[in-house]
Amino acid sequence: MASTLLARNALVLVTMDGERREIAGGGLYVEDGRIVAVGRPQDLPASADEVIDLSGHVVMPGMVNTHHHMVQSLTRAVPRAQDGELFTWLKSLYPLWAGLTGEMVEAATETAMAELILSGCTTSSDHLYIYPNGARLDDSIRAARRIGMRFHAARGAMTIGESKGGLPPDRVVEDEGFVMKDTERLIGAYHDPARYSMLRIVLAPCSPFTVSRDFMLETLKLGRDNNLTLHTHLAENDSDVAFSEKTFGMGPTEYVRSLGWVGPDVWHAHCVKLDDDGIALFAKTGTGIAHCPCSNMRLASGIAPVKRFLAEGIRVGLGVDGSASNDSGHILGEARQAMLLQRVAHGPDAMSARTALEMATLGGARVLGRDDIGALAPGMAADFIAFDMSRLAYAGALHDPVAALIFCQSQDVSLSVINGRVVVRDGRLLTIDLGATVARHNAMAAELARLASA
Ligand SMILES: [Zn+2]
Repeated sequence: MASTLLARNALVLVTMDGERREIAGGGLYVEDGRIVAVGRPQDLPASADEVIDLSGHVVMPGMVNTHHHMVQSLTRAVPRAQDGELFTWLKSLYPLWAGLTGEMVEAATETAMAELILSGCTTSSDHLYIYPNGARLDDSIRAARRIGMRFHAARGAMTIGESKGGLPPDRVVEDEGFVMKDTERLIGAYHDPARYSMLRIVLAPCSPFTVSRDFMLETLKLGRDNNLTLHTHLAENDSDVAFSEKTFGMGPTEYVRSLGWVGPDVWHAHCVKLDDDGIALFAKTGTGIAHCPCSNMRLASGIAPVKRFLAEGIRVGLGVDGSASNDSGHILGEARQAMLLQRVAHGPDAMSARTALEMATLGGARVLGRDDIGALAPGMAADFIAFDMSRLAYAGALHDPVAALIFCQSQDVSLSVINGRVVVRDGRLLTIDLGATVARHNAMAAELARLASA
């Protein structure tokens, strides 16, 4: 017998389906984690194993986060890293990250995922590129499984240390041969390519300024041989572009073109400084972008030309980016900042609230290479969230409850269902003991700071 779930009577149900329907009084019916029916009460069965009444709530697809470094949750608001641009910020944090352990990676991932889930995210990628003291990607995966988040775990890497012209200190870089072996191990142990997959492995060298050209090429080959998606940082700010020109004799666009690091299986984080040639290249090749507005503002990297990316048909999703450059991991808040920041650059009609919500859902799903999440329709995974519109933050904004989610101060969800499993109910995360997680996380953050100053 299938297990069934009926969620009904939403104030508005935002489908993000092909017609972008918003259904007043809508609901959805789920069997074994898949959506079977979406619509008004007369379109849905009258009962199910579990029935959830969503009166007064906006219901929408779970949001998708396409770029993060969850371990950085241990190093938020570090005094010496508060006011620098990308490279100085990185250099001030590497010594702290050098103290990370596997246990810390697991705890930080759990904390970051709790924050994401409560803010409306149901699927996230995480770009873990630093593996000191025996830490492994397996540590993140354990946390994802425990908390119940749909996860794209990116095996990052840094292989060129300071002594060879890279940015990170030598003690935090890895041997390229070892990384390739470990990546193959991870693919075999964890990667699930199937529809509704809860876990996929992504190949993700940290950035052009932390790995060799050969390593970028080998990673690309391994990814394509195994039908995996590929991810890295690109054209984040002016110093990033200058490094590329000095080191490779070409800017970021030429560099990724020369490597072949473009295509429907590739997405790059930031692209704040992607030039006209790069925008045309991304559009032509179907290359995706993770837009991280809070991080770009925090590090004063600039304003990514997202309005243009979208006009050119480029796949764009949202990323909260690492918690040390945000210093938050609120996906709905990120969508709000995305809308506001485009307006700063391009005027009040540069991005609508609904475009921001679409980027946070369908856009993110497309960037991760998925067609089974990001919308509420029959055949899609049952990943959905609900916001309580009776809250103070939405008072007076019910003229347009859907737009209110973006225009008003970003709130946490009251319900989150991931793969048909209720993970948040009445605003409470059910899968972990949040108080204990935060306490453990704070103790570890203090320990990292102590180690770095010793
Ligand atoms: Zn990043």
